[in-house]
Amino acid sequence: MKNKKIKFDVYLNGIAHHCIKCGFCCDAPTVTKKDLARIAGYLKIPFDEVLKRYVKFFNGHIGELKEVGGKCIFLDKKTKKCKIYKVRPLICRLRPYSVQLRNGKLTLTYDIWFLRHCRGLYLGESKVDEEYFKYAELLLKYLGFEESVDEEEFKKAKERLLEESLKYRKKSD
Ligand code: SF4
Ligand code: SF4
Repeated sequence: MKNKKIKFDVYLNGIAHHCIKCGFCCDAPTVTKKDLARIAGYLKIPFDEVLKRYVKFFNGHIGELKEVGGKCIFLDKKTKKCKIYKVRPLICRLRPYSVQLRNGKLTLTYDIWFLRHCRGLYLGESKVDEEYFKYAELLLKYLGFEESVDEEEFKKAKERLLEESLKYRKKSD
């Protein structure tokens, strides 16, 4: 039987996004077994070695990468770049979006942490690239959806971030 594509609603509320690869959101991510297998292939080491060196816990299906100094073990502290960017975990690919259930519909929208802190918001155009729907579908399959962000909280975080990013941009001009 052919897989039926999931139809996501999109709730951006006028916010654009372009990741500036600042590494600020790179705390230890949740990983799937497939993520770990891809990392093992990329690093050319056995799966068990990946578990030993880079994984905090793994229950056979999902786990979490280790942290070093409060940041993901694969973040290069100097350059702020991901050392395994080509095979970065699914959850990292979907950032700054998250899948939430809004009014009973699966919705691709912003995680509240990103609304508060991501410097890549309010950059670029306000649309979601097709690849994010693909990641959202996979994320839903392996990790499920997140709790929906309350409307008021969403608005407040959005306004605060807009003010901050305007200040930030003036400073860096
Ligand atoms: S905080 Fe935002 S801009 Fe920075 S790496 Fe994460 S998603 Fe990209
Ligand atoms: S795997 Fe890469 S993109 Fe994901 S949190 Fe770690 S450093 Fe960031």
